[in-house]
Amino acid sequence: MTDAPFRTRIVRCPTCGGEAVYALGNPCRPFCSPRCKNNDFGAWASEAYGVEAKPSEDDDPDADAIT
Ligand SMILES: [Zn+2]
Repeated sequence: MTDAPFRTRIVRCPTCGGEAVYALGNPCRPFCSPRCKNNDFGAWASEAYGVEAKPSEDDDPDADAIT
């Protein structure tokens, strides 16, 4: 059972991992903000250069527990 309206869903922002509103009103979806949308392009470019050695501190396991 979900109380979320069909037109508005909360998804995980691919850039910052925070909540992003996935709705027509959010032109940046599935990102939470234009900033994150731009950041994603930057990350993609970095991966294209093969930069992947560092473990991400953003990957906090506790974050998934908070729902
Ligand atoms: Zn974000």
